[in-house]
Amino acid sequence: MRDDGTDEDVTVSSASFVIQTPYAIMRPILKPHARARSEMSDERLLNPNPDSDDQQVEKSLRPRSLAEFIGQEKTVEQLKIAIAAAKARSDPLDHTLFYGPPGLGKTSLAGVIAQEMGVKIKITSGPAIERAGDLAAVLTNLQKDDILFIDEVHRLNRAVEEVLYPALEDFALDLMVGKGPSARSLRLSLPRFTAVGATTRVALLTSPLRDRFVSVHRLVFYSDDAMREIVARSARILGMPISDAGALEIGRRARGTPRIANRLLRRVRDYAQVIADGTIDVPVARAALAQLEVDELGLDENDRRLLHAIIDLFNGGPVGLSTLAAALAEEVDAIEDVYEPFLLQLGFLQRTPRGRIATRRAYEHLGIAYSEKSPGGDDPLQGRLF
Ligand code: ADP
Repeated sequence: MRDDGTDEDVTVSSASFVIQTPYAIMRPILKPHARARSEMSDERLLNPNPDSDDQQVEKSLRPRSLAEFIGQEKTVEQLKIAIAAAKARSDPLDHTLFYGPPGLGKTSLAGVIAQEMGVKIKITSGPAIERAGDLAAVLTNLQKDDILFIDEVHRLNRAVEEVLYPALEDFALDLMVGKGPSARSLRLSLPRFTAVGATTRVALLTSPLRDRFVSVHRLVFYSDDAMREIVARSARILGMPISDAGALEIGRRARGTPRIANRLLRRVRDYAQVIADGTIDVPVARAALAQLEVDELGLDENDRRLLHAIIDLFNGGPVGLSTLAAALAEEVDAIEDVYEPFLLQLGFLQRTPRGRIATRRAYEHLGIAYSEKSPGGDDPLQGRLF
């Protein structure tokens, strides 16, 4: 046994987490899923996953307090009450889970909670914790009331989850000491802490894990008005002159996603500086976005390619996800996480048990005649990859 109570047999690595104060942390966040995408999705202007430029700038743009956090009113209201109650009792906040598409503010909210509670935040992610020993290292480094933020919590493996359960429930770490017949279990107590989990795929969370998060919040796409405010705020922080209508023009084409809005804003600024007088107004925003091929609704070339594939190649669908992915040379995950959420939200796409269908609205948006018999064709490939 070592002084810290762990056994030599337990592999402990500290490489999988970072310890920093709330706002220093936000840069080197581990988001490997963003890297697992196909090349094309990675380069997409409208990809809600962060690219390296985003990570540079996001640090300065993250809201720091609940008051600064725009939109998501329901979640913010519930958090306000939970934080005030926990503070009044001098308790840590209940374990909290945020779920919803990428770029909507899950990581930001974890930082906001830490700031509001006046505690430190430690950040890790599901794929970064490969072994039970990695998690043991993270947990034994926690201090009382700390926030442990686990991004992509659905990607924790089973062995790691088993260690997490008693930690979340009883603030205890169960270790196996020794091997073979002489092995015995040892329970270490942990300081009381708050786990904040984030996931884009809540359905993939095992139910024992989901049940251990007492407070669960679904983040939704932002309204146009909230997006306008977010763009105006970011422009203010980055020192860009922008009109209110210009902010709305960018905000409403950013697919209800602040990360995309911030990225578009930076690209429009380049245009405003080079082609116009530096101020972002409606004509400048429109011209810049047209040049970036982002249309009125916030669809880009890739969205249109996906809809065209369903309509032209598969007669409007239904088409199986894997067939569609193969036809587009995309990954299934990229289609599900990056393309589909917004197309579903717009009502351009329908998910059915037999596959994806392009709706009448999608036809209309692309200027393709819709007839009652389309969509209706069977998937000619029956979900086969080719
Ligand atoms: P997620 O963890 O859900 O992928 P993030 O918390 O990393 O999303 O948010 C991405 C970026 O979007 C942040 O850097 C921040 O600048 C911006 N952002 C997110 N939510 C808000 C908000 N409510 N108000 C202002 N900016 C926001």
